[in-house]
Amino acid sequence: MKLFNTLTRTKEEFLPEKPDQVGLYCCGPTVYNYAHIGNLRTYVFEDLLRRVLEFNGYVVNHVMNITDVGHLTSDADEGEDKMKKGAEREKKTVWEVAEYYAQAFLEDMDRLNLLQPRWKPKATDHIQEMIGQIKKLETNGFTYTGNNGNIYFDTSKLEDYGKLAQLDKQELQAGARIEVDPNKKNPHDFVLWFVESKHGDQEMQWDSPWGRGFPGWHIECSAMSVKYLGEQFDIHCGGIDHIPVHHTNEIAQAEGATGKKPWVKIWMHGNFLVLKKGVKMAKAEENFLTLRRLVEEGYDALDYRYFCLQSHYRKELSFDWEGLDAARTGLRRLKEKILNLGDEAGAVNDHYIERFGVAVSDDLNVAQGLSLAWDLMDDAEVSDTDKLATIKKMDRVLGLKLDEPIEFELPPQITEWILERNKAREQKNWKKADKIRDKIEASGKWMVKDGPGGTEVHPK
Ligand code: AMP
Ligand code: ZN
Repeated sequence: MKLFNTLTRTKEEFLPEKPDQVGLYCCGPTVYNYAHIGNLRTYVFEDLLRRVLEFNGYVVNHVMNITDVGHLTSDADEGEDKMKKGAEREKKTVWEVAEYYAQAFLEDMDRLNLLQPRWKPKATDHIQEMIGQIKKLETNGFTYTGNNGNIYFDTSKLEDYGKLAQLDKQELQAGARIEVDPNKKNPHDFVLWFVESKHGDQEMQWDSPWGRGFPGWHIECSAMSVKYLGEQFDIHCGGIDHIPVHHTNEIAQAEGATGKKPWVKIWMHGNFLVLKKGVKMAKAEENFLTLRRLVEEGYDALDYRYFCLQSHYRKELSFDWEGLDAARTGLRRLKEKILNLGDEAGAVNDHYIERFGVAVSDDLNVAQGLSLAWDLMDDAEVSDTDKLATIKKMDRVLGLKLDEPIEFELPPQITEWILERNKAREQKNWKKADKIRDKIEASGKWMVKDGPGGTEVHPK
């Protein structure tokens, strides 16, 4: 397998620490709002990585954290507390907000057919591990106390700070894009532990050797990954926005605490989903689309998965509804072809599966894998039963539920109209029934039929 490593900026042959097992850590959601489809693009990429590793015979020890404390609106130490912001918006406690959106995220994962990680540790359940790592950093001479009482990481003490982002010394000194903070010795220094004095009305607080308070955001990932995967492991993932701050600081913490380098062998980053060139979808901007919204608009979550699979994870992907329509049609046509093959699976076709394996193992060239699935379906030389066996194997990577009947979720508005129309028909109000049918069909996505049980609606 070859994977592109952000640390070296090259595609490398992947050789895990243990011969048949892979330690994989993925930065998970901050649960103060629904995930947007940009976030979900990153989780689709990570799911593909996991599936390709499994396709190649590895057991994947997959960890994804749930951030429910400490993440400020800026990834550095500025701005409001994200969880607090969510709680104020919804007039709930931060704990309720965290619980609700963590659950909503799991539902999104299931809808997108993302495999569940082996561990999903919550930050608030691992405060002691974080305190432990900060203590180690203190012992190793990497910390200082700011005038505000917060504990900071001293980036000037770490020889190779910034290596992931390839930040050069000049840039570090200038502190490009980082506001000057009088509490910090160096512009890139960051908070390990906030004390009460700074965020007095913080709902989530714990005792610590430095006073009552709460952890900085970055410490949760280095502390929890070490707990579940050991002091050194194979692959760490996230979106490209994490390269300059979050992942850079995670490396500083882990390598500063243990002294072992490299902490992580391969760093992989998914590029952004954008609304148009250069305009990133972002939660904080509130310009985001959720998976729920796509379902309300009549799409299946797997249409969006198919949409993501068509482009490489390291390329920016531009979202528009026409593109999603094309993905929906593509997936539906492919499924129809597969459903026509019958139920009986024969032998896996080696010629196709080998080429498929080579494509997806080349830094996750899943788009090529997908086009091989199409080639297979159109190949008159391969029997239907062998096609079915082969496509099932491909689908272990693609995760599109290709051999399952086409499922669709009706948007709530359509369900309402169906009930209304059935009532109108009972009352023999044909005019009204026709009007409602026109409303349902107006979007061009749905078709109305009169079945034995009343109004039936199918995707067009
Ligand atoms: P967050 O919940 O904000 O911590 O982000 C969760 C994941 O989504 C992280 O890996 C981010 O890097 C990633 N991410 C954020 N915005 C986008 C975007 N527009 N496109 C793709 N991934 C994103
Ligand atoms: Zn992280």
